[in-house]
Amino acid sequence: TFLDYAPAPESTALLHLRDSYGLFIDGEFVDGRGDGFVTISPATEKPIAEIANANAADVDAAVAAARRAYERTWSRLSGTDRGKYLFRIARLVQERARELAVAESLDNGKPIKESRDVDIPLVAAWFFYYAGWADKLDHAGLGPDPRSLGVAAQVIPWNFPLMMLAWKIAPALAAGNTVVLKPAETTSLTALLFAELLQQADLPPGVVNIITGAGDTGEALVNHDGVDKVAFTGSTAVGRAIARSVAGTGKKVTLELGGKAANIVFDDAPIDQAIEGIVNGIFFNQGHVCCAGSRLLVQENVHDEVIDRLKARMMTLRLGDPLDKNTDIGAINSAEQLERIRELSEIGEREGAERWSAPCVIPENGFWYAPTIFTGVATSHRIARDEIFGPVLSVLTFRTPAEAVAKANNTPYGLSAGVWTEKGSRILAVADKLRAGVVWANTFNKFDPSSPFGGYKESGYGREGGRHGLAAYLEPAAAQVPARRSQP
Ligand code: NAD
Repeated sequence: TFLDYAPAPESTALLHLRDSYGLFIDGEFVDGRGDGFVTISPATEKPIAEIANANAADVDAAVAAARRAYERTWSRLSGTDRGKYLFRIARLVQERARELAVAESLDNGKPIKESRDVDIPLVAAWFFYYAGWADKLDHAGLGPDPRSLGVAAQVIPWNFPLMMLAWKIAPALAAGNTVVLKPAETTSLTALLFAELLQQADLPPGVVNIITGAGDTGEALVNHDGVDKVAFTGSTAVGRAIARSVAGTGKKVTLELGGKAANIVFDDAPIDQAIEGIVNGIFFNQGHVCCAGSRLLVQENVHDEVIDRLKARMMTLRLGDPLDKNTDIGAINSAEQLERIRELSEIGEREGAERWSAPCVIPENGFWYAPTIFTGVATSHRIARDEIFGPVLSVLTFRTPAEAVAKANNTPYGLSAGVWTEKGSRILAVADKLRAGVVWANTFNKFDPSSPFGGYKESGYGREGGRHGLAAYLEPAAAQVPARRSQP
């Protein structure tokens, strides 16, 4: 059968990795002052490269470089010239797409078909989109132009390493700011390859600085006095700590945090499409997705049919080598994350929900978790409330649209939601009542640079994408000029 057919994994031969990477400061790779650490492939646990660990002095150097670049070059360039650099970066991402996709899957563990078809194309799309905005900011209206903020400190998570980098860097540069970015410690590799690409693009030194390290490096960066803006994507706990520490400093802040999205399936939903949407909603990227459809709310009268079909579909998911083009479910990003998923799943069982996992052959090395669903979940269960951030779906039922809305909103988060129904009027009525930043109708996990993305409640504040994402890096400037007298 076609399941026996195992094509050669995507080749790592096209990667030209160094044994060790320094920090990217002022356009150059420099040694970090702290002890380095090794980044490993989560699928094999084999080392990939040694990564530098930036300490407070390195953070100082990076922020100083960003400040110099802001004052001497970047804030003096026209929007048209900034746009030219961004277009160049976008084109280089496209040229080096295969290499970046392989590096991303190697370092993060996500299936190559996702990094190749989703992550890297979206990275290019984000740079193209914001490149197009840069020149529109010059003389855009009758009043004075909005102003850039200065130096942006950007801290990102490990689930979409290069995509989160693009979401942060592209609007910041388009708006005329300079950047110090810290990737997550388990997935710094593609940010460093991106730094090489910036050298290739001849981006002026200091406009983008990439410093690697753990949480303490991120903490030193966001709390640095030389920073004007903090943009953070990560856990709600760290987001809360950042909000507290920058309060009263005058720094502008945007936070993109956790989620526990409801994927609501009504009894008139297009069923084949809904099954695909449920699978994509929770198993895409092993469920390491802030907007994952991790709570399935299914109308009671179609519950059994939906669950039977969902299980049948889950039996066809292929777990394994992230570099194999046929893989649907890659590796869990780290041993810590695997432990968290296991712990919450055990709590789910103890609280009385029924667990079903797709039968998968789990590789000997690396970190893996079979796609799993829990049925019979109550709103009070931990697995209905806490973000698991793994391939684990909690299934709840409802009878009426009002009950679906109430259950969907019964969470401290509010990042995204999905609605599956043939009725257009119901989509609008339900979406209107959902307290979520993004509502997908008859689809899920679709991203576009022109759409604002962000959360209500504990999912954070601010939006990324679209003109709202740009506004997060601009200060509106207002000036009054006397009205011109009409000629006699
Ligand atoms: P995390 O908060 O542990 O880490 C995120 C980043 O913050 C990492 O780079 C880390 O080194 C750094 N960091 C840790 N402590 C810090 C501190 N005190 N000060 C400054 N920086 C610090 O999150 P994670 O485990 O990497 O990512 C998973 C979380 O991210 C999930 O909760 C997920 O929902 C969320 N996420 C949200 C979005 C969104 O757009 N809303 C997108 C992706 C991920």
